[in-house]
Amino acid sequence: MKIIRSIREMQNYSESQRQNKKKVGFVPTMGFLHDGHLSLVDYAREKSDIVVVSIFVNPTQFAPSEDLSKYPRDLDRDTQLLEERGVDALFFPAADEIYPENFQTYVSVEDITQELEGSSRPTHFRGVTTIVSILFNAVKPNYAVFGQKDAQQAAVITRMVKDLNFDIELIIAPIMREADGLAMSSRNIYLSQLERTDALILNKTLLEIEEKIFSGETSVKKITEDAEQKILAVDSANLDYISVVDADTFAETDTIIAGKKYFILMACYIGKTRLIDNLLIST
Ligand code: AMP
Repeated sequence: MKIIRSIREMQNYSESQRQNKKKVGFVPTMGFLHDGHLSLVDYAREKSDIVVVSIFVNPTQFAPSEDLSKYPRDLDRDTQLLEERGVDALFFPAADEIYPENFQTYVSVEDITQELEGSSRPTHFRGVTTIVSILFNAVKPNYAVFGQKDAQQAAVITRMVKDLNFDIELIIAPIMREADGLAMSSRNIYLSQLERTDALILNKTLLEIEEKIFSGETSVKKITEDAEQKILAVDSANLDYISVVDADTFAETDTIIAGKKYFILMACYIGKTRLIDNLLIST
């Protein structure tokens, strides 16, 4: 696997692949890889001849109060995992390669970034769309794979690609979970043993909500109030939000209408660790 640190070298590498009629698939990550990330590599591989993964812990998507400096890192392990998975190139730029002195250009998606993650983390999506744009210009992929785990992020990037006419096809891959249902996340490493058990409340709550909707409950208020009560009973859990949105528009909804698709979205602190999870339901 080739390890590339400069944007220019990354561009040259992809350009020469594309000139040789190779399709380039791209998986952006912040590293500390798990099977969820590696499943994205497989999706990229299905469509592409060359798979590029980036590892970059992006400072602009973290607020000053968040866990940027503590974010878990293990480049040796990540490199080995990617190599075993057959990745062709790892793009691993330094922070000042991406954000050199006097950097001052940001990409913002206006509406769907306001609520949910955007409301809890006001500068987050601007950081995400900016880094994804920079990475797209560096890696020049034909395909880019993102996880449904970050459902709102996937919707925001889909909007950005459409609005700015990036000539890239997006693939949104399903959530990979541990055997007991916890969504895989680099942040799960922060959880103590007790918190790891408490963290099951996220997936459990989503499945209970799904069951209620399937058995005919249409009031989102009723559904979420019940869920809030159950989460209150878990010692280390502190709910940030739980919401039901139209799967296409991401607009929050009060009433479930038969025949439509929704995301149930949730963010919850388990101790000091903020976890997100979601479930797509077709009514
Ligand atoms: P991150 O390193 O957390 O920024 O994630 C990089 C990519 O992996 C994003 O597109 C995430 O949505 C995706 N991802 C993270 N966790 C999972 C998971 N459990 N299953 C599938 N994709 C995931």
